[in-house]
Amino acid sequence: MKQIVYIPFDHLHRKYGALKDADPKDDLIVLVESARMTTGRNWHKERLFFLISSARHFAKSLEDEGFTVEYVKAATTVSGLKIVQKNYPKLPITCAEPSSFRQFEALKAHGVIFVENDFFLTPRPLFQSWAADQKNYLMENFYRKQRTRLNILMEGGEPTGGSWNFDKENRLPPPKKYEGPKYLEHQRDEIDNQVSLEISHEPTNTWATTRKGALAQLKNFIDNHFAEFGPLEDAMTTDNWALHHSLLSPYLNNGLLHPSEVIKAAVQAFNKGSIPIESAEGFIRQVIGWREYVNGMYWFLGPDYRENNQLKATRKLLPLFSDPDKTQMNCIKKTVTDINDRAWVHHIPRLMLLSNLALITGTNPQEFLEWMREVFIDASEWVMVPNVIGMGVHADGGTMMTKPYAAGGAYISRMSNYCKPCVYDPKLRVGEKACPFTTLYWDFLDRHKDTFVKNHRMSQQIFGLNRLSDLPELKERAMDVLEGLEAGTI
Ligand SMILES: Cc1cc2nc3c(=O)[nH]c(=O)nc-3n(C[C@H](O)[C@H](O)[C@H](O)COP(=O)(O)OP(=O)(O)OC[C@H]3O[C@@H](n4cnc5c(N)ncnc54)[C@H](O)[C@@H]3O)c2cc1C
Ligand code: SF4
Repeated sequence: MKQIVYIPFDHLHRKYGALKDADPKDDLIVLVESARMTTGRNWHKERLFFLISSARHFAKSLEDEGFTVEYVKAATTVSGLKIVQKNYPKLPITCAEPSSFRQFEALKAHGVIFVENDFFLTPRPLFQSWAADQKNYLMENFYRKQRTRLNILMEGGEPTGGSWNFDKENRLPPPKKYEGPKYLEHQRDEIDNQVSLEISHEPTNTWATTRKGALAQLKNFIDNHFAEFGPLEDAMTTDNWALHHSLLSPYLNNGLLHPSEVIKAAVQAFNKGSIPIESAEGFIRQVIGWREYVNGMYWFLGPDYRENNQLKATRKLLPLFSDPDKTQMNCIKKTVTDINDRAWVHHIPRLMLLSNLALITGTNPQEFLEWMREVFIDASEWVMVPNVIGMGVHADGGTMMTKPYAAGGAYISRMSNYCKPCVYDPKLRVGEKACPFTTLYWDFLDRHKDTFVKNHRMSQQIFGLNRLSDLPELKERAMDVLEGLEAGTI
């Protein structure tokens, strides 16, 4: 053996990272199941199951290929590496650059040699040089550069379909009684059953734990959902928990799928002519735009970025985030129940329900971030930090997003079927039946008007406060709502 190749649980791809050039004759493969990861936090069991079982399946696939694989259980990653090094003291350790600052530092301090992290389409130095040249870090500008650089949906230097985005077509509310095609179910095998037993969790059949299953999920999306992805991508409905979202983020984030494989399949399907441009562009934007941008910003903004709290939000995490019975708000009750069931909801509930609520209630960003990290199947540090701190709760004062994503009940009512059966009325801002989102939206604007009046994208909303003849009454209702939310009665 010439070297140890260490594979973190989010580098599970044979053709990328440190495994790209690995050879069973020369390379000893090490995976570490650290107690820090498994028991260090109150992870959603579905996530824990997914991460561990995927890693064990991947280790087995490498053994089947002829590699010597050490799958070690230890207190931390580094202590796991030390256990292996006792038997192979002279071998250097190689790993692809880790996906978080913390792991980067820990492995560097242990003398691990890094190869480039190529689990993304944008090399880290390339993003750094783009960001360093920007006045503001608009995703749209980055995305257009990506389209051109990667030559995706481009014709003679112009965007296919004559436009860089089709957002206007992609904001449809949910159709009435919309069921859509069935979702793919993933059957469990012996490895899954063993993990399930060890962590005392009966997993759903929602998430695959193998490369084969991840590829099947990709095919299912392309064949059955891609064409309708765009128009309904922002809609929320109790009839169907995922509409036409791809459900690919867990595999993209743990390495079972590489973004280039997803893009290749999407472009191929589009070129066959069966996918409307608004769906093709809408999906490709998420993968080559948002995902790459968020990862780039994580590294660009640095390790302290996660501590931002520029709106000075101090409220403790509301009880409804961990217990859906602690609220009567139908949208939140349904969303938290969905998360408890399968550790996933799509980007609009994450942004316009959960983060919006944390934002307008003045919930401490770090407490909210920790909760989000624990409950989502795909919640890697690099992706959760910018999405929550920058996009979700505007705790960075606008470094990433020019304005906060604050909204009242009208938006939720338009984009979902949650409001009709709710005890609250999205149109009301005062009184017992007032929608908490609507009341708190105005209260939030009023509390921060001095900050936001200087922001030209917010000034219209701030001036809207002047038209509220019932502002004093609204402020009183907002106090009651906040008290009720804390008590778990609203
Ligand atoms: C507050 C907040 C927190 C989020 N936290 C996470 C997270 O922890 N992990 C995560 O992977 N995504 C996160 N997202 C992005 C997005 O919500 C999920 O990627 C998406 O819901 C996953 O489901 P899907 O695979 O069906 O996505 P689709 O809607 O089918 O989109 C396709 C792919 O695009 C990528 N993508 C889309 N939007 C984003 C984004 N904003 N950031 C990064 N990638 C994106 C994902 O890889 C996703 O799989 C967050 C978004 C918000 C607003
Ligand atoms: S009325 Fe308000 S609280 Fe109720 S579902 Fe609609 S947005 Fe949510």
